Amino acid sequence: MERTAEFPHALYAAAGDVGLFRIDVPEEYGGIGRDHVLPLLAAERIARVSPAFAVTFANCADVLTPILAKADAEVARTIVPSVAAGALIPCISMSESTAGSDVGSMRARAVRVDGGYRITGRKMWCTNGSVGDVFVVFAKTDSDAGSRGITAFLVHKDTPGFERGRDEPLVGLRGNPTSELVFEEAFVPHSHRLGEEGEGFRIAMLTLDSARLNAAGMALGTATAALSFAHAYALERQQFGKPIFQHQGLQFLLAEMAAEVEMARSIWLKGLDALARNDAKEASAMASVAKLICTEMAVRVTTQSVQVMGANGLSKSNPVERLMRDSRTFEIFDGTPQIQKLLIARHLVRDGVPV
Ligand SMILES: Cc1cc2nc3c(=O)[nH]c(=O)nc-3n(C[C@H](O)[C@H](O)[C@H](O)COP(=O)(O)OP(=O)(O)OC[C@H]3O[C@@H](n4cnc5c(N)ncnc54)[C@H](O)[C@@H]3O)c2cc1C
Repeated sequence: MERTAEFPHALYAAAGDVGLFRIDVPEEYGGIGRDHVLPLLAAERIARVSPAFAVTFANCADVLTPILAKADAEVARTIVPSVAAGALIPCISMSESTAGSDVGSMRARAVRVDGGYRITGRKMWCTNGSVGDVFVVFAKTDSDAGSRGITAFLVHKDTPGFERGRDEPLVGLRGNPTSELVFEEAFVPHSHRLGEEGEGFRIAMLTLDSARLNAAGMALGTATAALSFAHAYALERQQFGKPIFQHQGLQFLLAEMAAEVEMARSIWLKGLDALARNDAKEASAMASVAKLICTEMAVRVTTQSVQVMGANGLSKSNPVERLMRDSRTFEIFDGTPQIQKLLIARHLVRDGVPV
């Protein structure tokens, strides 16, 4: 993926064959049962090898949240079993060139017509967009109602008037496309609306709560991998007559990195525990805390891992420079650190200081 920046269709199919996409899916849809925690644990592990493929995988679990919660049962039956088999790639699209953190300012609109809606607008940064088959798309059904005017829809890739646009080359996550989507009066039947008109923003926030724990976990996996490489290197590499690990200045750096990873992991696991107990309020608050702490930690720890390895850390013959570049992306999607702080402050106002 890193070398060609191409989507790994064969790997995706192989992941489908071993049942990776079934672990979050109810049995009635061909899965092994809805489990909110297991896919997050899997994504953290995959990120230790390939953050780019972890994002491709994790995005499927993220997209299933609104589909399973809000799709018409008949429509869900035509989509979810194929997603579980790895035969359909699902995507989610809120962002636009002028609407990032401020989701409510989106301009894409959905106009009611006989039998459904026509969607017009341009979306940006859609993960897996150029290879996606089915899209959860957010558009305004009432442009005067701010975030309360947003509605969610399911759009199939073959819908006339809908096109998957170009990919945006990024600093990291090569091979995991982020793409533009173009809608020109694309017709979506009533049955493909998710939830009620105006419910889209709430659906987006519901999706982002688990997505944030997913992003935090992938950042954690990325940092864990970088630390492992740096640690092994420091034990081997000799300078001034001994392994560099035995120079206290470097030893303390590695100790701090290990402590940061451990701290972040316990925060993330607290979020997963809340998710396992179905404590939606705590899971939501912890999702923002974990997203903030784990993603910022991953940028620091991967950067320090490059430092530990010197010139070899910068070389493409080692994976650490890739992990450093990949880690940068986790700070941006599913809400930046600044947005997580806004959300944490909101929880503080509403619920007080956690004890
Ligand atoms: C790899 C990747 C994958 C993505 N995948 C998807 C996807 O699948 N679907 C999708 O819909 N979107 C996706 N996105 C888009 C992503 O959600 C947005 O990039 C993100 O929400 C930030 O928006 P922005 O980039 O427009 O930055 P902006 O919102 O323009 O923010 C720019 C800067 O201003 C700061 N800022 C903004 N508002 C405030 C505020 N109120 N207070 C303080 N600081 C503020 C931000 O923190 C940031 O530092 C993806 C992005 C990336 C990089």
